[in-house]
Amino acid sequence: MKRGMIMKYEELEAFFRSLDRSQFLEDEFRDYAYVDRPLPIGFEQTISQPSLVLMMTAHLRPEKDNKVLEIGTGSGYQTCILAEFSKEVFTIERISDLTVKAQERLKKMGYGNIHFRTGDGSLGWPEEAPFDRIMVTAAAASLPFELISQLKEGGLMLIPVGPQDFQELQLIRKKKDGTFEVETVEMVRFVEMKGKYGWNKK
Ligand code: SAM
Repeated sequence: MKRGMIMKYEELEAFFRSLDRSQFLEDEFRDYAYVDRPLPIGFEQTISQPSLVLMMTAHLRPEKDNKVLEIGTGSGYQTCILAEFSKEVFTIERISDLTVKAQERLKKMGYGNIHFRTGDGSLGWPEEAPFDRIMVTAAAASLPFELISQLKEGGLMLIPVGPQDFQELQLIRKKKDGTFEVETVEMVRFVEMKGKYGWNKK
């Protein structure tokens, strides 16, 4: 699969199966890389379970010319899959050590189309907006309108919304007239998104 082609599910699944998840884990967790579970990545954060990453990418449907914003870089596992199927990824992580590690990993793997930032992703990346796709991999208390405003008309955003225990994974479709539709995909469980438009306002 060449980077940048329109994503078909079979191509996504083939790439997903070829991607060695252990590359995104610390030594002590590498043996568990192929267990379909979230795993610790330090700083009380987790890498999501593989099946959830596959399902979320399939719902977001990144395309060849897409500019994608990701909130919650974490290990860089989801970032890698987004980078494979889009033109450019702008990814934001609030914990600088995680940003540094993900950046090193993905650079070593040969990805040159990812831009990293440490900061509050609930504010988005206004200088680079609008985005064709936005993937949020931490749970928001409510829909952050700042992020919706950075979504291109016709664009898609996937975001877990709700309390700490369980959230609705919502697919936001921004219409040509600037209004948006919300579809609930399924129930999920993510760590909370912090920040100005997150759970913890710091
Ligand atoms: N997608 C990641 C992966 O594949 O490893 C897993 C993401 S983890 C479930 C959620 C991440 O969101 C954590 O690394 C956490 O530090 C980050 N996060 C939480 N609030 C944030 C915010 N306001 N801005 C940026 N990152 C945030």
